[in-house]
Amino acid sequence: MIITIDGPAGSGKSTVARKLAERLAVRFLDTGAMYRAIAFAVLQAHVHPDDEQAVADIAENCRIELPDDGILLNGINVSTAIRQPEVTTLASIVAANPAVRKRLVAMQQAIGAAGAIVTEGRDQGTIVFPNAPHKFFLTASLAARAARRQAELQKKSLPQSLEEVMDQIRLRDQRDEQRETAPMKPAADAVIVDTSALSIDEVVQLLLDRINANSASLPASLPASP
Ligand code: C5P
Repeated sequence: MIITIDGPAGSGKSTVARKLAERLAVRFLDTGAMYRAIAFAVLQAHVHPDDEQAVADIAENCRIELPDDGILLNGINVSTAIRQPEVTTLASIVAANPAVRKRLVAMQQAIGAAGAIVTEGRDQGTIVFPNAPHKFFLTASLAARAARRQAELQKKSLPQSLEEVMDQIRLRDQRDEQRETAPMKPAADAVIVDTSALSIDEVVQLLLDRINANSASLPASLPASP
């Protein structure tokens, strides 16, 4: 069983996808972390992100591993390093590179072929798993998304003003929506959920209810609505 959750930055998809995977006892795949790891490798190599060939070479030759508790780049745990704002911006630039996408899409499809997953990103329902039986696209107002992202950064001792965070999100949305390869958009058969006024637990329950309603093949013991 493959459940895809796509959506823009700050829509809550990472937290929701992680919790949903826990509730269903299946693997959680954070595909954004994979793009971030390539961005981190580009940063470390001092390569210009617009140098398509150099970025492609890095993507093709680096080793990415996904243990349960994080992400390894060439054997080194980069789970924290890839959350720096500099890497966030760079990730959305290198994610437009077709060679980067080709490598990561192949990895993601191999993971999906190996077992049930809840996977989150920008293209999971459209490109990577077009036949997934359950697809969601989470969205929220820019103000709500920026406030969430600012709180997350604050927790990681990386404080930024709301204005700064809003500008970064706006720019990232634009890049993700307007790139030629795999632009961010809801799959035609995705359920669109506006999370602006919902708690994480409410979104998780909404998704579970929808999955239950849509699927006769899931275990009967799935939690029902309160
Ligand atoms: O979700 P996260 O903020 O970690 O993603 C970082 C960047 O990686 C996004 O802004 C996007 O450009 C890229 N990305 C992507 N396709 C995915 C996941 C992430 O293009 N499936």
